Amino acid sequence: MTARSFPRATILGYPRIGRRRELTKALDERWAGRLTAREFDATATAIRSSIRERLVGLGLGRDDSSIPESFSLYDHVLDAAVTVGAIPRRFDDVVNAREDESGAAFALARGHGDASPLAMTKWFDTNYHHLVPEIGPDTRFRASSNRLIRDFIEARASGFITRPTIVGPVTLLLLSKAEIDAPEGFLPFSRLADLVPAYARLLSDLSHAGAEWVQLDEPALVSDAVADDADRLLAAVEAAYRELGAATERPRLFVSTAYGDIGGALASLAATPVEAIGLDLVHGTIPSRIDSGTRARLADKALVAGVIDGRSVWRGDLEAALTTAADVRRLTRSVAVSTSTSLVHVPHDVSLEQHLEPRLSTWLSFADQKVQQVGVVGRGLASGSSSVRGELDAASAAFSDRLNAPGVRNQAVRARVSLLGARDRYRVSWNQRREVQKRELALPLLPTTTIGSFPQTDRIRRARTRYLGGFDSAETYVTFIKNEIADVIALQEELGLDVLVHGEPERNDMVQYFAENLEGFEVTLHGWVQSYGSLCTRPPILWGDVSRLAPITVGWSRYAQSLTSKPVKGMLTGPVTILAWSFVRDDQPLSDTAVQLALALRDEIADLEAAGIGIIQIDEPALREMLPLRGVDHEHYVAWSVGAFRLATAAAKPETQIHTHLCASHFGVVLDAIKGLDADVTSIESAHSRMEIVDDIAASGFDHDIGPGIYDIHSPRVPSVDEVTKLLVRAAEVVDIDRLWVNPDCGLKTRGYQEATASLRNVLEAATRVRQRV
Ligand code: GLN
Ligand code: ZN
Repeated sequence: MTARSFPRATILGYPRIGRRRELTKALDERWAGRLTAREFDATATAIRSSIRERLVGLGLGRDDSSIPESFSLYDHVLDAAVTVGAIPRRFDDVVNAREDESGAAFALARGHGDASPLAMTKWFDTNYHHLVPEIGPDTRFRASSNRLIRDFIEARASGFITRPTIVGPVTLLLLSKAEIDAPEGFLPFSRLADLVPAYARLLSDLSHAGAEWVQLDEPALVSDAVADDADRLLAAVEAAYRELGAATERPRLFVSTAYGDIGGALASLAATPVEAIGLDLVHGTIPSRIDSGTRARLADKALVAGVIDGRSVWRGDLEAALTTAADVRRLTRSVAVSTSTSLVHVPHDVSLEQHLEPRLSTWLSFADQKVQQVGVVGRGLASGSSSVRGELDAASAAFSDRLNAPGVRNQAVRARVSLLGARDRYRVSWNQRREVQKRELALPLLPTTTIGSFPQTDRIRRARTRYLGGFDSAETYVTFIKNEIADVIALQEELGLDVLVHGEPERNDMVQYFAENLEGFEVTLHGWVQSYGSLCTRPPILWGDVSRLAPITVGWSRYAQSLTSKPVKGMLTGPVTILAWSFVRDDQPLSDTAVQLALALRDEIADLEAAGIGIIQIDEPALREMLPLRGVDHEHYVAWSVGAFRLATAAAKPETQIHTHLCASHFGVVLDAIKGLDADVTSIESAHSRMEIVDDIAASGFDHDIGPGIYDIHSPRVPSVDEVTKLLVRAAEVVDIDRLWVNPDCGLKTRGYQEATASLRNVLEAATRVRQRV
């Protein structure tokens, strides 16, 4: 069989959760035992088949390998690990029990008996999270799953020739960690040569099944991991792909990259027999900068030009995309038009959002629209721009309409920004603030508090649904929320916490709540994207200048404070986190948008102060996750992100105690940023990562107050008094006791009242014990 050339238009991957989150729901049902494995598989099969049908409907070819077989039940990195047998030994039971394959994958993802699950971390600089495979010196790689083959055959049975897609060997190893008992200094990447034969075997099986092209996703080639140690790593990459390319029985190989500039890896791949290479031309590679040696080698390869932005929701400039694709054709005759990344980062379809203002809808492009755009540019490239003139012009018109529409630029906001100076980002010195705050607040040693949310019960969710659905009046809803607040205040008083919170019952989500209450945002109804496994988020769309028409949180905080003589902490989401968890306008730098958000929060803080709130927390859990992939970009990021937080908080009176809260691990790289925030008190997730962070913070010379979490809220388990006391004592060994706060790792919204109350009781008992010792 002679494999055909690479299709003219394609995408790197398509959302897998289902248009109506069918997969998400089926996963939850299956785990709850309400779906059998067989029923669950039927749902997954139906989703895969509807994806293929839909992609053909949107213009991709039915039988030319242009449809990527990119489905995953939980996570594509997990799939790749399972496919090559990289399964930690603690799961031997599950694997040997020959349970169905998805059952084994779920065990790795969610834990099984005593076997703790694989760790999870962010997939490059996106909001998608992947599982972290564990590799050791003895991990036995072997092609041990027929998932890819099964999906390919399933597709072929209904008349599709699709393109099996799997994370490539280099990326799989670079994203893995050393298994726990591996010798010191062992690097998973050192196993590349052992892993390649498992991929070769897989390729041969796919070839027998009739696959013409296979896509190996190698986005890690783009990251610093490779750039830092380029020579050695790239030599290994080249050797690996030479070997895969040398296999006699294999489909053609398409190696995709994404999330940035392919850099030196392009030369390495060009020197191997792979038939097609993918480039992110939206956020990365500039074709004219490719050196002549590499150019010569690319001439007989297909280049897959990622010119349609796979991770933004904007319709974008199609004319520019076509021009870029045409530039790539100077390098090789065979150019395919594609998305810059998989489309898992965007919602399914703009046309599901019937409630949106029609004008805004014309500016947007979700996964389905992106597929069509790829087709348009592909046709333009093949037959000349005149063949798609209408589509190009329509996109250009929408693009310029977006730049000029009312609300996109708000003169009042811009005038205010133009008057800002360095002064607006500074409070009086920490020492002075500390003095007045001590006097004003008169808190005990080791003050106790929580991070903000109390359990979001079904009752709360139902009340919100009733109100939004028009079944309950605003008055009924407000009374309901007030009762919730009163209960939470009473509970905290009974527990004996020192700084109380109102519990956030009025918030569906810490970002969406602010988006709904600020100008410049729109929220979607069906715009779900996968964060991990069955967890999806619905990021708001930040399309215009941000401003605040009226106070947002003040009423709730004032009410909570009226119920108690203890201080109630106001609770806001910070500018960086709002940006990180939204789809943000691309017509100005993120840093400009951050300033606008900061000003809105600055006003909210002033209003909270005026309402008698003396402690205000501004959450920045996403501070770490927005950090750019490349080290060279860090300084700039830290400057604007920290600057925005300071702009939001710097007008607070010296006696107002500003708290911030951060979560997720690996804070090491942003310690300077944490210091830069200059918050009076910083609470930080640490129990979850065994308190490693407190040493880093102590070593960094950070001298403000700090609350390392001592209760891991990620599981329903209630930690014992001894356990939390140990963590607190551990923290007190490295942090001055009079700067130490006592709190959980994060908010309690995902917990139930029973376990949360029991756990908080133990946390408070630990504080009492440690106070008695000093
Ligand atoms: N205040 C928020 C809460 O308690 C913070 C959540 C977060 O850090 N992700 O839920
Ligand atoms: Zn948190």
